[in-house]
Amino acid sequence: MKINEHISHDKVISKIKEIAKQLSIDFPEEINCIIVMDGAKVFFDELKKHLKTETIVADFITLKSYKGKKSTGEVSIEDDLLNGFKNKPTIIIEDIVDTGNTITFLKNHLKKFGIKEIKICSLLSKPDKNNLKIDYLGFNIPDKFVVGFGLDHDGKYRDLDFIGFLE
Ligand code: 5GP
Repeated sequence: MKINEHISHDKVISKIKEIAKQLSIDFPEEINCIIVMDGAKVFFDELKKHLKTETIVADFITLKSYKGKKSTGEVSIEDDLLNGFKNKPTIIIEDIVDTGNTITFLKNHLKKFGIKEIKICSLLSKPDKNNLKIDYLGFNIPDKFVVGFGLDHDGKYRDLDFIGFLE
């Protein structure tokens, strides 16, 4: 399979710095993050380097909605935690929003834990996200399958330091 570079490493890093700057302004004292594994880990690792927030609370959650290059339309949850986030404003950190199913599912799930204000931070977004609002967004991309910077295809290509289309 061929990978065509779409967003260079330098562009990804400078966009993440911009997002971190905004988050640091909006959350100067404490930021509570739920990181959607595995794809968003690389994004979060870079993001946290540039956050100026005094206390970063981070927890990781594993969700699955993709099989190979296709969305299954169903989201399943593989990990639970979250009681520590009760009554706290919380940011979901995602690698990419496609249909928005994953985030909508997770938001509803988090509400059950009494988390009151939920914001979304995603590195990438595809066009058809059912009007889901992304509070902190890196890049809008076309409706094509991308890999790199933590995004995989069956476990491969996460290590690429740029974002590319898998053709
Ligand atoms: P949604 O639920 O919004 O349709 O899809 C979100 C999830 O699907 C993401 O967290 C990611 O795991 C996966 N996904 C969606 N589009 C892509 C893509 O282009 N590349 C990769 N690697 N994963 C994707």
